Amino acid sequence: MQKQQKSGFEMEIYLDSAATTRVCPEAAQAAAAAMTEVWGNPSSSHSQGRRAAALVKNARAQVAAALGAKPEELTFVSCGTEADHWALTGGMAANRGVGRHLITTATEHDAVLQAAEKLKKQGCEVTLLQPEKDGRVTVESLLDALRPDTALVSVMLVNNETGAVNPVAEISRALRVAGSKALLHTDAVQGFLHVPFTPKGLGVDLVSVSGHKIHAPKGIGALWIRPNLHLQPFLPGGGQEKGLRSGTEPVPNICAFGAAAESGKKQFADTLARLRLLRDRCEELLRAELPGITFPAGRGADHILSVSLPGYRSEVLLNRLDAEGICVSRSSACKRGGRSHVLQAMGVPADVIDGAIRVSFCRDNTIEEVEYFVRALAAAAAELRHR
Ligand code: PLP
Repeated sequence: MQKQQKSGFEMEIYLDSAATTRVCPEAAQAAAAAMTEVWGNPSSSHSQGRRAAALVKNARAQVAAALGAKPEELTFVSCGTEADHWALTGGMAANRGVGRHLITTATEHDAVLQAAEKLKKQGCEVTLLQPEKDGRVTVESLLDALRPDTALVSVMLVNNETGAVNPVAEISRALRVAGSKALLHTDAVQGFLHVPFTPKGLGVDLVSVSGHKIHAPKGIGALWIRPNLHLQPFLPGGGQEKGLRSGTEPVPNICAFGAAAESGKKQFADTLARLRLLRDRCEELLRAELPGITFPAGRGADHILSVSLPGYRSEVLLNRLDAEGICVSRSSACKRGGRSHVLQAMGVPADVIDGAIRVSFCRDNTIEEVEYFVRALAAAAAELRHR
């Protein structure tokens, strides 16, 4: 196939934004300025240090505004994984008086599942909610699992493999009605600036977000902590981040996160409309060009589309697409080898899981890219079928 051209260069088509995103110009500029112009340590009392501290303050306000929260409610951490670990371990410790039972879902990212494993080894009991066929957990299953000693419930907002959006606000209401003392955490790494929400609107106590899913660099995330909820410090040390997460602040990453969040917030309505357009066109074309195609998770957040060609092996298809300059992934980029635990939990048949591909979009993608991807996938499937 003739590859697409952009500005005379052979173009790569990147449809893997759920794995990571390209750093946007605003974020890159903010990071560069923080590396070359204001390189001070925010804890230093001299002018360089004070300027760096001011940059961190500004970025915190930018991320908080994009999240619909107050700056003082956000603690910067190194990534979404760290935010998840802290939320689970810190949330369970903070609510130790209530009990040692944790409820989470079988479709969480490994960051949450591994934190739950760690807690289990420390004597906590863990219940994994199983999803429905569409990948969402129900309020009923949560209420069935709920116990008087449930100290924490952790339910992701948007699943990273399927885009399934969990009913987090309904779960929060159900916990309140049931008189539960459990804290509620949501991993919103895939939800932030992809679906509309605020921590208050969801009624949660803890929210994890990550920079690199919203066009900031890798290596920066944040944990939103509900006012008056006191977590143990995640990393004790020099006392940065109000003593909750020590370590000299990565000012360039923090500034880039702030700039990306601000730019993402400004473009949010347009981005949502664009993602919907890209997703709908992709699904429509796939159905037309590949009659055997299935959509294991149906409709969720618009930036993620899980598709499958049963009878094919996704790694073979991905290699073909890669050779055409098209980047998509099997299920989750973090999951090398092994069948997707998410699709398995949803009861998706093995041949559908084995042929599954995750296509994920960002605001920079074009309809032409989607069309090119579908043509390339159809060509790869036709060629493999005739072998
Ligand atoms: N949670 C979800 C839902 C994710 O998709 C990811 C990353 O893919 C993470 C957590 C981990 O975030 P990070 O890569 O910033 O550690």
